[in-house]
Amino acid sequence: MKRTGEKQFVQAFIGTANLALLLIHICLLLFFLWLHLWFMVVVNVFSVSIYGAMLPISRKKVYLFLVVTIFEIWIQMALAVICSGWEMGFQVYSFALLPVIFYGDYVGSRLQKKTINPIILSIMVVMSYGGLRVYTWCYDVHFVDNSFLEMGASFLNAVFMLVFLIIFHANYERLMIQTDHVASKDQLTGLNNRHSMRNIIQTVLDVQNGEEKMAFAMADIDNFKEVNDTYGHKAGDLVLQGVASKIEGIQNKDISVCRWGGEEFLIMARGEECFALLKESMDIVLSQVRDMVVDYGQHPIQVTITAGLAGKQAQETVDEAIRRADEYLYQGKVSGKDQLVYQDEIV
Ligand code: GH3
Ligand code: MG
Ligand code: MG
Repeated sequence: MKRTGEKQFVQAFIGTANLALLLIHICLLLFFLWLHLWFMVVVNVFSVSIYGAMLPISRKKVYLFLVVTIFEIWIQMALAVICSGWEMGFQVYSFALLPVIFYGDYVGSRLQKKTINPIILSIMVVMSYGGLRVYTWCYDVHFVDNSFLEMGASFLNAVFMLVFLIIFHANYERLMIQTDHVASKDQLTGLNNRHSMRNIIQTVLDVQNGEEKMAFAMADIDNFKEVNDTYGHKAGDLVLQGVASKIEGIQNKDISVCRWGGEEFLIMARGEECFALLKESMDIVLSQVRDMVVDYGQHPIQVTITAGLAGKQAQETVDEAIRRADEYLYQGKVSGKDQLVYQDEIV
């Protein structure tokens, strides 16, 4: 599976996160300066330096950035609680750490084949949360003797964490959608790939106990090898994209299309009138491809397609129906190409 899109998406997100973390730590630095909590000022000078130094490299070293971020937030949070007390509410960042840990594990394993152990790390974070509670309780830590300020700070920390979680979740969701898209689409043509077409077919089979009517068309570009041999592979790719866009044009709620492989496309129609609908749609595709001219430099390239059409019979499996469509396609190839072949059938 190609993961270029996913990688770019993660890199963009990490770049933004790095900048946001830098700004947040500058704010924290100013906050601790205002409180005269000098130890935390020094800690934040370090943190600001780290995020500043990582700005130029974090997009390339995504995994390193995430690991550094996890430990930086963890240490910063623990020290802030130890120095300023439980009531200031810095411990809430423990909860923000958990999704970052799992995200780091996901990104690390997919993009760089590296993993942190998210379960063990999460347990350690939760244990440190408990440890900090016990520590601040035993030593009764209160850096500021002002419960109003403590309440305000803890409220702000909770709001910051909430905002962080919402943004993080939105990005994570977009990453999932992106990943799903990359996994289900053919990269060259943007059509469904064979795997996702299988899933679509399965969802149709799952409806009405497999009673829903289906028809399949298998289409193949004629003399495509000649296009590659004459004008080169790049020209071939352009033609493939052109044909794919015509086939995609007939896609709707009852018709699904995919790149089945190479220069072959599988089209599926569903519903009572599926056979007639697919026949009509394929006639349109064949004629549109016939009229299509792909401009490749100085060369206008024209191609045709041949297709076989079969309606799935009640006693037939999907694979048998597709095989029949393939046989009709073959008949079309040996009897002149550029045609739609089918048997008048009752579906
Ligand atoms: P026919 O009319 O019988 O279908 O002949 P054909 O030349 O189209 O069929 P053949 O199976 O001989 O050649 C198919 C060619 O499609 C060979 C392969 O290099 C080319 N092909 C498959 N996938 C791609 C692709 O993604 N890009 C390009 N440019 N060519 C591809
Ligand atoms: Mg061909
Ligand atoms: Mg072929």
